[in-house]
Amino acid sequence: MNAEIIAVGSELLLGQIANTNAQYISEQLAEAGVNVYYHTSVGDNPVRLKQAIEVARGRADLLIFTGGLGPTKDDLTKETIAAALGTGLSMDEEALRSIKEYFNRTNRAMTPNNEKQALILKGSEVLKNEHGMAPGMFFKKGGRSYMLLPGPPSEMRPMFSKYGIPAILHTLKRKEIIYSRVLRFFGIGEAQLETELEELIDTQTNPTIAPLAGDGEVTIRMTAKHGSKEVAGELLDNLEEKILSIAGDYFYGYDHDSLVEVAMRSMKEKGFTLSCAESLTGGLFQSEITAQPGASEVLKGGVVCYQDEVKKNVLSVNENTLKLHSAVSEQCAIELAENVRRLFSSDIGISFTGVAGPEDHYGKKAGTVWIGLSINGQDTKAFLLNLAGGRNANRKRTAKYGWHYLL
Ligand code: ATP
Ligand code: MG
Repeated sequence: MNAEIIAVGSELLLGQIANTNAQYISEQLAEAGVNVYYHTSVGDNPVRLKQAIEVARGRADLLIFTGGLGPTKDDLTKETIAAALGTGLSMDEEALRSIKEYFNRTNRAMTPNNEKQALILKGSEVLKNEHGMAPGMFFKKGGRSYMLLPGPPSEMRPMFSKYGIPAILHTLKRKEIIYSRVLRFFGIGEAQLETELEELIDTQTNPTIAPLAGDGEVTIRMTAKHGSKEVAGELLDNLEEKILSIAGDYFYGYDHDSLVEVAMRSMKEKGFTLSCAESLTGGLFQSEITAQPGASEVLKGGVVCYQDEVKKNVLSVNENTLKLHSAVSEQCAIELAENVRRLFSSDIGISFTGVAGPEDHYGKKAGTVWIGLSINGQDTKAFLLNLAGGRNANRKRTAKYGWHYLL
């Protein structure tokens, strides 16, 4: 089976939004083992949409549409598909009821054009919309399958993964389940990880292993195929154990985990509080914490200590430290971490001081960063980074290393 994704919406062609729906659907289809050969974007125009449908029918056997299922005049995806395929539309009572319910629940009056959203292509299977009004649809005609999904990603994504993918797999009568799990690593390069796992990667057939690098992180996707979900899960567990026995030191989480999330979870579990002294990161680190729900249980506060004067006056860094070693030094990172921890009476103090770039500074090369880590009752440590990115990449990477060391 090969698929074409047709995203409908003039805003895509005007560059107002990026076609993240096609990206998401492609990713999910790849995992399900369905080939995607084409992405098409077309405006809210029935003539050109009809042309796109004709072209896609000539080269794909699964056509997936997103967008244009709403109540307004420019939403014409299903009407155009109905006309192109010679299929009628009929009112779906269940969908109509749930639209009415939606208006009741949100305390709004329902305008008549909203009823249009409950029209479905005759003979199609309805894909329930649990996050909006317009239902999705799946139907087969002339040896091809068609799926219609709403445009808003918050509606489309859960609908597609919960109902869309199973409907497609059912059509394929596929007995094998494809089951994958992503392992996330930080602090190790892709090349190094691949070298360490070389033998495993070469000899492994089910599950397969695919490393991928991006944004300072390396991920490994393990994909198992089996008729039983349980057995597929066991195959993945066994492989995971082998991988972690080799590279476990750099492992931090699964699938969509992020470093900050995992570090926060672990601090919360241990009941630790945190305070921060941020120089080159300028608050970035704390901004990432506060983006996490429940941040207040962990983060006490912090100081953006950009200039030496602030390091000295607010965080009591020794004048000699600044004179002899400069602000970008192990000693300064240590003092900042210890003093911010005391100032805020937290269990952990973390500090960031370095040269973000692009220019060298304090006689230190751009990308030189010290991270100080002071944990109540332990010796304070400082870690040196030699980063090679641009100014903002270095700042972001520094914050990530902060999470890494906290873990
Ligand atoms: P609605 O009921 O909200 O009108 P719809 O199914 O008619 O939904 P559209 O009107 O085409 O969908 O798009 C609604 C919104 O969904 C767009 O403004 C945009 O924010 C988002 N959207 C649409 N298509 C895409 C896409 N391909 N990728 C990402 N976002 C999209
Ligand atoms: Mg719309």
